[in-house]
Amino acid sequence: MILVFAEQNNGSFKKASFEAINYASKIAANAGTQVCAVVLGEANDTAILGNYGANKVIHIQDARLNNLEAKAYSKAISTIASQENAQVIIFSNNNTAKAVAPRVAARLKAGLVAGAISLPDTSNGFVVKKSVFSGKAFAFVNVKSATKVISLTPNSFGVEKTDAVAEVATQSIDFGANDFAVKVESVNKITGIVPLGEAELVVSGGRGLKGPENWGILEDLAASIGATLACSRPVADSHWRPHHEHVGQTGGTIRPNLYIAVGISGAIQHLAGVNSSKAIVVINKDPEAPFFKAGDYGVLGDAFEIVPKLTEAFKKYKAAQHA
Ligand SMILES: Cc1cc2nc3c(=O)[nH]c(=O)nc-3n(C[C@H](O)[C@H](O)[C@H](O)COP(=O)(O)OP(=O)(O)OC[C@H]3O[C@@H](n4cnc5c(N)ncnc54)[C@H](O)[C@@H]3O)c2cc1C
Repeated sequence: MILVFAEQNNGSFKKASFEAINYASKIAANAGTQVCAVVLGEANDTAILGNYGANKVIHIQDARLNNLEAKAYSKAISTIASQENAQVIIFSNNNTAKAVAPRVAARLKAGLVAGAISLPDTSNGFVVKKSVFSGKAFAFVNVKSATKVISLTPNSFGVEKTDAVAEVATQSIDFGANDFAVKVESVNKITGIVPLGEAELVVSGGRGLKGPENWGILEDLAASIGATLACSRPVADSHWRPHHEHVGQTGGTIRPNLYIAVGISGAIQHLAGVNSSKAIVVINKDPEAPFFKAGDYGVLGDAFEIVPKLTEAFKKYKAAQHA
């Protein structure tokens, strides 16, 4: 059995969970086995996970699991993994996985590959490819333990939907008092925008924008195409923008279909978070800016002239489409 953790948020599943199930289903097909998705906490419509490749869903509807508690999550997932005789356990490599996957691996004495970017190669062992050194190189990790844990880099695999359905079973776990050592008092979530990790279109600004008062042109550009905003680290460090928008080595790692970088030099630490975007457009007034080498399209010039023109062009294009 291939086990996959299907993370939910307020009862609904994230795109990254569907991607992890798709990934698990390809591993299962190659190994001639099935996929079991584990859902923790109260969630709706768990049967939908069948559409993405789960044959079976085990739902642990314990309200104490509605918020991340790494100890309880790892106990629940490793208990189900043992019960289902799972050979491989898949996570999407987000903050939850970073807290839970190593604990699951330790409990199951399993080898762990964090940040896989493609399917395991089983032609000679069980070799998983991951990117290392901030995306500058690849490592091929041969996992030799009987049980294996993989966390998949979000947006590295893609999501396919079918009409297949999954059999859903509910189950409870015998938690001890110590399994819930952390008490979550409140959770503040950003609402009203597509979260950066899930955004297909991203407009990002750097120090070239000169100050927070100039972000209006980026907000207009983002609104014209329905994009989510991001920024470079000094922008967040200077409190021009909130920290959750910061991308790069020390911020979020994203893989949108389109990344528009405005007034960002393209330092290696910034590229580490964005260089897997499908298409990168660079707007910069310095022809020597390193970002031009990493970009697919470059616009050389002053952002304060170019960005409003681009916004107008997008608006006209959209209006023409709806006419
Ligand atoms: C350990 C470590 C970790 C780091 N982690 C990160 C990280 O996660 N994310 C990150 O972003 N950085 C990170 N950094 C910082 C990184 O090295 C760079 O300093 C930072 O990315 C630069 O930000 P910037 O491109 O916005 O600013 P700058 O380097 O100042 O570049 C501004 C750019 O704007 C252009 N520009 C100026 N005016 C205009 C205009 N009117 N129109 C068009 N273009 C204009 C300039 O030509 C320039 O290329 C890290 C650094 C270290 C040491």
